[in-house]
Amino acid sequence: MMAQFLALKEQAPDCLLFYRMGDFFELFFDDAKAAASTLDIALTSRGEHLGAPVPMCGVPVHAAEAYLARLIRAGHKVAIAEQTETPAEAKARGSKSLVARDIVRFVTAGTLTEENLLDARTNNLLVAIGCVRGEYALASADISTGQFALMRIDKDRLSAELARLEPGEIIASPAIEEPLAGWEVLSAEDFDSENGAALLHAQFAIDTAPFHRSELSAAAGLIGYLRHVGRGQIGFLQAPLRHDNSRFLAMDAATRESLEITRNIQGGGTQGGRALSLLGAIDRTVTGAGARMLAQDLASPLYDRHAIIRRHDMVRWLFDDALLREHMVEALKAIPDIGRALGRIVAGRGSPRDLGQVRDGLEEARNVRSRLSEMPQLPGLVQQLLPMLDGHGEMVDLLFRALVETPPTERGKGGYIAPEYDEALDDLRETSKNARSAIAALEQKYRGDTGISALKIKHNAVLGYFIEVPPRHADSLMAQESGFTHRQTLANAVRFNASALHEEALRITEAGSRALLAEDAHFEELVAAVTARANAIAATADTLARMDVALSHALCAADNGWVQPELTDDNILLIEAGRHPVVEAALTKEKQSFIANDCALSPQDRIWLISGPNMGGKSTFLRQNALIIILAQAGAFVPAKRAIIGLVDRVFSRVGASDNLARGQSTFMVEMVETASILREASANSFVILDEVGRGTSTYDGLALAWAVVEAVHEMNRCRCLFATHYHELTRLAEQLGALSLHHVQAREWQGDLVLMHELAKGPADRSYGLSAAKLAGVPQPVLKRAKSVLDKLEEGRAATGGLAAGLGDLPLFAAAITDAPEPEKDALREAITALDIDNLSPREALEQLYALKGLLD
Ligand code: ATP
Repeated sequence: MMAQFLALKEQAPDCLLFYRMGDFFELFFDDAKAAASTLDIALTSRGEHLGAPVPMCGVPVHAAEAYLARLIRAGHKVAIAEQTETPAEAKARGSKSLVARDIVRFVTAGTLTEENLLDARTNNLLVAIGCVRGEYALASADISTGQFALMRIDKDRLSAELARLEPGEIIASPAIEEPLAGWEVLSAEDFDSENGAALLHAQFAIDTAPFHRSELSAAAGLIGYLRHVGRGQIGFLQAPLRHDNSRFLAMDAATRESLEITRNIQGGGTQGGRALSLLGAIDRTVTGAGARMLAQDLASPLYDRHAIIRRHDMVRWLFDDALLREHMVEALKAIPDIGRALGRIVAGRGSPRDLGQVRDGLEEARNVRSRLSEMPQLPGLVQQLLPMLDGHGEMVDLLFRALVETPPTERGKGGYIAPEYDEALDDLRETSKNARSAIAALEQKYRGDTGISALKIKHNAVLGYFIEVPPRHADSLMAQESGFTHRQTLANAVRFNASALHEEALRITEAGSRALLAEDAHFEELVAAVTARANAIAATADTLARMDVALSHALCAADNGWVQPELTDDNILLIEAGRHPVVEAALTKEKQSFIANDCALSPQDRIWLISGPNMGGKSTFLRQNALIIILAQAGAFVPAKRAIIGLVDRVFSRVGASDNLARGQSTFMVEMVETASILREASANSFVILDEVGRGTSTYDGLALAWAVVEAVHEMNRCRCLFATHYHELTRLAEQLGALSLHHVQAREWQGDLVLMHELAKGPADRSYGLSAAKLAGVPQPVLKRAKSVLDKLEEGRAATGGLAAGLGDLPLFAAAITDAPEPEKDALREAITALDIDNLSPREALEQLYALKGLLD
């Protein structure tokens, strides 16, 4: 057995090997130690290997999924080695033969399909990073639902794309530069692009010519890996969609993180994190599939006006009709997760219950369609989607006929094929039922014959059916002529067999096992019928999810007074009475109200410089406008009275540098790296929020950098930008930069205390309130007093010298500074050379000219 174990282990060196032993999966050696400590189960030992006891632990097969889930979450991979023959088959090969075992599957974080291993409301992606001659591409797949996408990406945007996808597992080609820890780098053969083309062609019969070699390489890596973990079975994969980045609003990893779109950094754990994110604040979806699609939409807002408006129209349709919303909520509630059930069925891990879910979900979908088709004036997207809800009639009818109403999750015990579906099966069931009553009759008869009223007919796995009497009655049955044969004597019971009982028992087991075989065969037929329609069923599931998402937006908008945003191609951002959905929700919980604020950016007034006291609401204002744009372009309504949004190609956010220590860079470095990427990448169609750039370094350096950054954004990027700062001195920029205006969050001092109004007003803040804010925060009185005298001294100094920004007015304008005219000497040189008529120079003149040119240089 050890030899067999070690041979299997050799095939799965990086996995914990689950070795099937009857009703248990057992783990040995280091696997056992790792699993026992992760799962907190007993570590024992079994036998010896090379003279030392073999460490061992085990988990029962029926509870294996729960243990698997914990191991996968802890970062392990697991290989499952099953028995591939029955003990009887092994015996037939020779009396001492070991039952054959083989690895039937590798369980990895990105390739799960089991309900218990997955979060119903979150996608679980496997991503493969391909690279051919420096060109990068990603293949991403959620095999629990069959989603499969290919996309080319800039190498520089790799981390941004991975942040968008949030994969559960990443595999990479060895051709990529600097793979991160946690990515599994496979071999060059695994990522062979020609093989990728062949695989795609074989799998989906598609023309692979339009795909770039890097995409084919990524596809090869992904499909090959799926095949490896499924031992030849790739599970459910639909034909690849091409993700065209130019159709989506781009955000980098830092922006996603700081805007807390799908996760809150401080939230702790995925659940808490999600709840405090934008996603958590707006998620009113009813189904798991809807929740997954909503998360995807928010992670990938659109940059395609037509497509966005179609989504808005669909939300409007539901927003305008409260009754329809109620109906839809009820209808969707009744719909099981068809997509994931389908994923399991196609992967060969489906249960009768999964078939039942597909049946019930598709039936409900058909009902939704017939109800909606009666409505007048459906929006375009709904009209387009409706037909996808139907068309499975024949297969659904088949499932209704074939399956009982609530099929079990377990297939092995049968009982899921409906009566009257198969006459032969009904007969077998009848036989076994009759035999059961025959056994009951036999019991009565034996009691009468023997006069032992305590006589019982029982059944267990070892003996099958047997007759049991208390020991004191045993003697009479032991007699030869009694017709009973003795089988077993226990302390308080003696067990017998009898020929009539034996015959009935045989009939039961025979009918039973034949019935099971018949059910099994039907199961396979049903699986084949569903698999044949897998793509169409997945399309229905997606359609239901799209409706759920629109419904969620409509519910959220109706409950919170949100509006449909208007989209334009002009670079403006007009938000009337905008709010921050997450902060508002938190305040509402504490019975406080959120102060709405306007924002009005246009090409003539692109940058708002916002000052004001700490805690005054600057960051909140910055973020709420970014979130409104993201919501609008994801297809949602927005928290405002009115919103007119010029389509945004990229959102950048540089907010609060405090929490990035985990990345191993200093706060200031992170801030500068992110600022640099904004200056490099923001276009006139972008939207940028910058919060206190420069605060991570000394006052002079910080102010100087902030000053230059604002100028650059104004002159070069020309994007819409909100810039929050505590540097009062920056307000002087308004004198030089035509499209920049000053704003502040208001505060009052009342009876010596700072009162924050959270209201935005025009103009610079009249003063800073740092000390008042410190008082509000509870800094002790003596410290405040001391700070006040230091401040007074500093301000005396400022008055005398003209302050930190004294003399900045004399700087040449930024535009002049960056278009630095070429140095005059060089020009003279150029002119002199241009003037030379080389063909007509004597050697002597040429020499003189050379000296003259040299002279110009000096
Ligand atoms: P700092 O300069 O210290 O970073 P800030 O000006 O950026 O502060 P925020 O972090 O935006 O301030 O806001 C602080 C708190 O004030 C928020 O957590 C919220 O509770 C409250 N707040 C902000 N904006 C509003 C608003 N519009 N209405 C009501 N409360 C608000």
